[in-house]
Parts: sequence; structure tokens; C-alpha cells
Amino acid sequence: MSATIHQLHNTPPIAGFIRVGHIDHKWIEERLSAGRMPYRRFVFDAAHVDKQRGLLGALKKAGHEVILDTNFAELCSVGRFNGAASVLPWANQDRPWQVEDLGGNRARFLASQMAEFAVERDVDAVLSPSQLIEVKGSGPSIDANLAEALRVALDASGGGGIALDYQVITTMNLLRDDEFRRDVAKICDQVDCENVWLRASGFDAQSTGAATKRFVENMAELHGAGKPFVGDMIGGLPAIGAAAAGAIGAICHGSGGRESFRIADYRKIPTGGGGGGKRRVFLAGLGRWVSEEQFEKIVGTKGAKSKLFCRDKGCCPQGRDDMIDEAKGHFLNQRNAQIRELSRIPEERRLDHFLAQQLGAASSLARTLSRLDYEDDKTAELVSNEKKRLFRMADSMRALGDNAIESRSLSPVFRGGGPNVAVIAGRS
Ligand SMILES: [Zn+2]
Repeated sequence: MSATIHQLHNTPPIAGFIRVGHIDHKWIEERLSAGRMPYRRFVFDAAHVDKQRGLLGALKKAGHEVILDTNFAELCSVGRFNGAASVLPWANQDRPWQVEDLGGNRARFLASQMAEFAVERDVDAVLSPSQLIEVKGSGPSIDANLAEALRVALDASGGGGIALDYQVITTMNLLRDDEFRRDVAKICDQVDCENVWLRASGFDAQSTGAATKRFVENMAELHGAGKPFVGDMIGGLPAIGAAAAGAIGAICHGSGGRESFRIADYRKIPTGGGGGGKRRVFLAGLGRWVSEEQFEKIVGTKGAKSKLFCRDKGCCPQGRDDMIDEAKGHFLNQRNAQIRELSRIPEERRLDHFLAQQLGAASSLARTLSRLDYEDDKTAELVSNEKKRLFRMADSMRALGDNAIESRSLSPVFRGGGPNVAVIAGRS
């Protein structure tokens, strides 16, 4: 009781979740021990968690919330089933799991393996095993059976205290379908889960205003279940806007981005190579990442520098250099600040605040930048397109109907060992 910090009635905080991924655990552990990690909720991939036990232990000790993703979607996809997740006890080594494999006994057996794994690693919550659902059909009900089997298995194997979150992984196209949404809404209501995670291919950090508006409208029809919704693998101003409009009560992404999910990437077998780890810089004022090369071209233009360098001394004491060398830290600090800013505003005023203050400031910065004289056409085009995207986003969000705005997702409850409130000491 004494650990609870009271929130104002109509200001349930927006929660922030971080996906640890497969390479960022050491970095997160260092930031944590330096007291420079602004988030308190972390999602581990089952495929990588055993190499990340140091971080897991440190997070548990600090009272943070630890969630396990069973990586079942990867094991159901032709492009990923024999990748990192193939080491998991519930992997099928020969081929991806298919709908017809996932009935009664098999569902119970896979669920018991996942439950044992989760209990042994002492996590606070598990994301239910989910397929990638791209077409209408039995997908949602099979996922619901798996979720129910996992709840039963957790209870039976000493994991009664581990929460279960239901997970839906789909596309924006399918989310637009009335019948699909009705099926999902029914299942969200029926399944014994705390939060619902939604990952939709086609809605991400670079989405347009029209896509953001559609996401908000579609999500509103899922709220009937009265559960908190977490937008997974999303980010940028579209995610902040969706949270401001009440479509979701939480945002989840990686520590260095991972603000998008493309279902097409799961369909194809990786060809190797690629990537290369090009350095990127987060432009907080525009809510987006650019390559280091783009960044240098923009800030090298007369008039741009003073508008883009991080002036938050607690975040980037060395300004430009820290934005580049500590790009992930800068990103998390600035995203956390955006989430906290919205969380302090009463729910019914969040959309107005987003439009006037957050999107308003980004649009006006983009307009100022678009008037500068760039040496190359590519940079001029990037800035001009960003300006158009942000102004159109404002128009689309202003056109949201009353039904979409009045329906609001609940906010997830904090499940770590610390105080039961999401906004504490400046953390999401
Ligand atoms: Zn910074």
C-alpha cells in the first residue's frame, strides 16, 4: 500500500515496453547499472534469453517487469522457423508449424514446454503463442486455444503468479475487416489474459496520417473487452498519436528502433549479408531516425544545426556527438519524455495536446527545415516529404470520428516488483 503512488482519476499513464532483442542486452545492463535506463518493462525473446541471464537477473533485482515472448510466430513462418528460435524446445525442426498441427494434445504439449521454460526463468508475464494471421479463418481461435492451454500449463507448473498476455500478429489489411475484428474482440473478451498485444504489419513509425487514423478507428472496435492494448513494434509520431487518441494504452519497440514489423520478412528465407549496421541518428524534434549521412547533410546546412542538436544536458551533454555515439540512449530518453508528457495530460485532452504541442512542434520544425537551402536534392526531398507527411497527419487525426476518440484502451498495470504505478521517477 505504501509503495503505491496515486494518479489523478483521468490520467492513467501510457506505458512503455522495450524489446531487448538479440544484441542490446549488454548495453541495457550497462545503462541500468549507471541509473540511466528510463524504462521499467522489458520483453525478452525466448530464443535469446539464455544468453541474457545477466540482464534478466539485474532487471528482476531492480524490481522491473520481465516478459517472455515465446517466438512462436517465428516458428510458424517459413523465413524464420529454422533461425534463432529453432533451439527452443517447442520448435519443429523439419518445417514451420501449421494450423493443422496445433490441435488438442499438441497444443497442450507445446504449452507445457513453454510454461516450464517461463517458470524456470522466473518471468513476470508471457506473451501467448501466436501465428502470423494474414487471412480470415481459424487463426484467432487456434491462437486462443494455445493461450488457454498456456494459462492452464502455467498454473499446473508452479507459474500461477505469471501473467498471460494475449498476442495478435496480423496485417493492417486484415485489421480493416469487420468480421476479423469481431472475432478478435470476442476472443480478447474470452481469453483469461491481462493485456492484449497487437502487432500489425503496415502500421509503424513511418506510417501516414491516413494509416494512423485507420489504426485508431479499427482499434476502437476492439476495446469492448475492457483490457489494456499494447501496440507492439510501432513507434514515431504515429504511435504517440495512436496513444494520444486512446487506441492503445502502451507502446513497445526496441531499444535502438525496431519500430516496425513487416510480415513479408517472415515469409522469405533470409538471403544473408545485408544490414551492415549503418549508424543512425534519432531526430527527436521530428520523431524519426535518419542515417548518419543524412543527419550530417541536414545539420551541415546553414540554419539547421541549432534546431536539431539535443539540448537536454541530462541526455546528451556533448550535444551532437552524444546523439551519434549514444544514439540508443538519446532515442530512449526522448521517447520516454514524449510518453511522460502525454501521460500527465488528462485522457480527454491528450489528442488535442498531441495535435497542438507534439505534432504541432514537429510540423513547424519540418516547415522551418524545408525552407533551408540544401546542397543536394535528396536531402531537400527527405525534408520536404517529412513536412508533407506531418501536415497530412494533423489533417487526418483532426478528422477522427467521435466513436474512435471516445473509446479508450485501458492502461497496463505494472507487474514487476516495484511500486504499482507506471509513471515513477520519470520512467515509463
Ligand atoms: Zn539526447
